[in-house]
Amino acid sequence: MTSSARLLIVGPQGSGKGTQGVLVAEGFGIPVVSTGDIFRANIKEGTELGQQVTAILDAGDLVPDELTSAIVRDRLTHEDAAHGFLLDGYPRNTAQVAQLDEFLTGRGEALDAVILLDVPREESLERLRLRAIEQGRSDDTDEAIAKRLDIYEQETAPIISVYAERGIVDRIDGVGSLDEITERIAAALAVRGLAQRV
Ligand code: ADP
Repeated sequence: MTSSARLLIVGPQGSGKGTQGVLVAEGFGIPVVSTGDIFRANIKEGTELGQQVTAILDAGDLVPDELTSAIVRDRLTHEDAAHGFLLDGYPRNTAQVAQLDEFLTGRGEALDAVILLDVPREESLERLRLRAIEQGRSDDTDEAIAKRLDIYEQETAPIISVYAERGIVDRIDGVGSLDEITERIAAALAVRGLAQRV
């Protein structure tokens, strides 16, 4: 048993992957690396990267793969990610999977598990509508939401079969209470010998 883990959490917009990702990462004592959060922080701080990506995020489009991968590579070389990390929002298409593979292989590493949060489309749409009201994220407009869901179905869903071929995907029922879902994830990871610290 080990408390280190290299994880990816995937799910459609509104699946709750951001919330669950934080809880799972806390349990393992590993950092969450969320590309959406990195971009939003840069936009808020008005950095050069932030200025580069504002319009892209508002439209619900993807930031160019090479730029996104370079940012993730840089983040993963920080000390706190040496023994594991939880990726949220990256990789998001097969090109990014290849770029991540190249980086991890170069370090003699690989993802241990991919948590797929399964939530019916109606439920995710409902949660997104709520989030739009509660948080007022600038990309939670009807148009940007529709664009992001389309990109998820066309570009992100296919990465699941790539990882499924490697036998590392855990499909988790994402409908239930917060705690129930966290427990389902922990149980699936424990089967892989990935035990949380707490
Ligand atoms: P959501 O999953 O609700 O779309 P995220 O926070 O994961 O929210 O992403 C917000 C936006 O950040 C995306 O719509 C996209 O513009 C950008 N983004 C995040 N991750 C990536 C990525 N891996 N590749 C390209 N763009 C990304």
